[in-house]
Amino acid sequence: ATPTAIMVGTGKAAELGILISGGEALEQARRVTTVVLDKTGTLTRGRPDVTVVHAPEGTDADELLAYAAAAEIGSEHPLGEAIVRHARARNVVVPTASSFEAVPGHGVEARVDGRTVLIGNAALMRRHDVAVGALSSEVTAVAAAGGTPVYVALDRRLAGVVGVADTLRPESLEAVAQLRALGLEVWMLTGDNRVTAEVVAHEVGIEHVIADVRPEEKAERVAALQDRGAVVAMVGDGINDAPALARADLGIAIGTGTDVAIAASDITLVGGDLYGIVSAIALSRRTVTTIK
Ligand code: ADP
Ligand code: MG
Repeated sequence: ATPTAIMVGTGKAAELGILISGGEALEQARRVTTVVLDKTGTLTRGRPDVTVVHAPEGTDADELLAYAAAAEIGSEHPLGEAIVRHARARNVVVPTASSFEAVPGHGVEARVDGRTVLIGNAALMRRHDVAVGALSSEVTAVAAAGGTPVYVALDRRLAGVVGVADTLRPESLEAVAQLRALGLEVWMLTGDNRVTAEVVAHEVGIEHVIADVRPEEKAERVAALQDRGAVVAMVGDGINDAPALARADLGIAIGTGTDVAIAASDITLVGGDLYGIVSAIALSRRTVTTIK
């Protein structure tokens, strides 16, 4: 495309709340064959809420929440924030943790009132040899509803499961349908567990799902698609999406997401509206063909 066409194209995009970093990004958008979407904060709103607290028979759900919230207070993860918010809303007195460590892609380890608190996914429990069978039907129910089961262990014994669920962005289903109508292959890429990921993917009409991905693996998964000949647009909001956004042929950041994700991207969707992906690709195809 000529410089003028690119200026017109990026100008039109800007009116739609789509910030394109330069002419090259617009040219890349035209070549895209495959769109990879992060789940949490991209297809979903990214502000999950606690839906259920399962404490085993004879134990106190509020006490479980107190430990869970104490461990999560230093966490910047949306799941952690949801748990802290929920504990506060229930007026649970949250003790101060004496130590805290975020384990990326897994959860949190903390010391609270002299006890070791582990809170996170099945992989975190496995790492510490915590048996999780006792609450497996509760875990299955949370995941089957599209929520994320968060395991809580006290002194390396399972103490409960907290269900946390996010709502879809209102346009996710329709935006995915429009991407497919443009002839694009659509994938979901998430660190969340497979069952939850597939339930959400089904809700938005995505058939290709890559789940249980550790943060450092997201970029490798994008590269693997590229190795198979795909020209990949990656859409994400989180710090953990940044390497994948940079690796993709076209990185698209949700404007309401983290600065790190925006910096790693070629395009920013200012209001976070997923229709912007459709518009950017459609516009790039028009911009280039007009010139030929
Ligand atoms: P994503 O944001 O795509 O779900 P992450 O890599 O941040 O991926 O996390 C992967 C999984 O690890 C989460 O789905 C969750 O199960 C678990 N996890 C990570 N951080 C936390 C946390 N602070 N509290 C509870 N669970 C967590
Ligand atoms: Mg995200």
